[in-house]
Amino acid sequence: MELWKASTDEFVDTLKSERLSRAYVVTDPRSGAVEASHAGLKTLAAAVATDQRDYHKHQGFFVEIGRESDHLLGAFIHLTRRGQAAGGVRFWTYETMEEYIRDGLRLSRGMGHKNALAGIWWGGGKGVVARRGGLDHRDPEVRAKVYRDYGEFVSSLRGCYVTAEDVGTTPEDMAQVFQRTRYTTCIPPAFGGSGNPSILTARGVVVAMEAALQHLGMGTLESKTIALQGLGNVSLYTIDELLRRDVKRIVGTDVDLSAIQAVEERFAGDRLETHLVSPADVSIFARDCDILVPNAVGATLNPQTIPLIRARVVCGAANNQLEDSPRDARTLHDRNILYVPDFLANRMGIVNCANEQYGVFAGDAAIDAHLERDTEFGIFSRCLEVFSRAAESGLTPAEEAEMLADELSAQPHPIWGNRGQQIIDYLVASDWALGESPV
Ligand code: NAD
Repeated sequence: MELWKASTDEFVDTLKSERLSRAYVVTDPRSGAVEASHAGLKTLAAAVATDQRDYHKHQGFFVEIGRESDHLLGAFIHLTRRGQAAGGVRFWTYETMEEYIRDGLRLSRGMGHKNALAGIWWGGGKGVVARRGGLDHRDPEVRAKVYRDYGEFVSSLRGCYVTAEDVGTTPEDMAQVFQRTRYTTCIPPAFGGSGNPSILTARGVVVAMEAALQHLGMGTLESKTIALQGLGNVSLYTIDELLRRDVKRIVGTDVDLSAIQAVEERFAGDRLETHLVSPADVSIFARDCDILVPNAVGATLNPQTIPLIRARVVCGAANNQLEDSPRDARTLHDRNILYVPDFLANRMGIVNCANEQYGVFAGDAAIDAHLERDTEFGIFSRCLEVFSRAAESGLTPAEEAEMLADELSAQPHPIWGNRGQQIIDYLVASDWALGESPV
């Protein structure tokens, strides 16, 4: 079977038929060759090695079949020069191994960019768990098994990857992960974690909007009109911040009536207009406004929506807003719309939990520094740096942000150097793939 095109369940069955529960694909740091743990995975390694889009010399990825849950658990590691590969674990449905691997490769690199631009001493990593067919993934027992298995799997990787919360993963799930590994952040406050990051994320996005307005010579947020897609957690606090800055009007859409009701209850009538829409509705993009804020889901900026946009600035919290990064960033640029790369604007979620093992308290200056205008690595300064680089080079802000992030990602951790690669080398040398998680 061609494993690249196999379904994730078929891949699990193939491993099992060979009496295996673990596998990896790594890039040899000396030769640059992409190598698989088992001969049967050679075609998979070859598909990765020849990929031009999502593979960027990633240090590797590791997968395991969950002992209790039978799910495909994965950790993708782009680069560990700045520190341990860190990024949340996504629990999602994938049609093929290609989709699964591509998501992990793309997202781990994206996390590295976000961490580096934020000045955090972490590398780029991402966890990906493929939902198994025929199960109710809302069932707490199913979830507990998946996430306990995930914790064990992460422990087995000896700290080259540090996990966190992401799409499809809840605080309750993180509590399960934390039962089985120390290599996690974003744990519930009851266990010493940092809790809901949405307030800080909203504050960060608003600071990014202010930088964009300053760059364009459009003044402050006062009297501006804002269009929000999605009225969930981040938008609730974004609206609060915007109203406090005296915006003229906010219009928002959501597909979920309860989200609209929560916003209406809190801000009823206060310069706010909301609309319940269907998931395919893109009318919010055509609104006459100064700033468009994608705060719902990914890939909403695409050839269908970009031609509709009337805002001068697009700046929101959603991850991976561009359906195709270089293509859609270029179209926005050509339409004279300033797009603030999402990984620059929405960093506060990860900033909030990045260093929670060093202590958690309100008013932490190390966290607030990211929101201040004169901090070198702060959101405001980094945005202006990226915008002015783009204005000089003619490249898009997304391209410039990636280039700056690549430069910063190459800096070695000041204390530990590239310890992540040493751990990966150890896992390979000690036949990690032939073992199984501790019972
Ligand atoms: P959320 O789930 O609370 O809110 C998202 C809202 O978008 C939901 O109310 C949902 O119903 C709505 N929505 C979905 N599809 C829509 C559509 N087509 N049109 C209009 N509304 C739609 O999530 P959140 O915590 O507010 O995060 C918002 C986005 O920002 C997500 O993409 C998230 O991954 C990203 N993000 C969040 C944080 C954080 O701190 N919460 C940090 C970084 C990135």
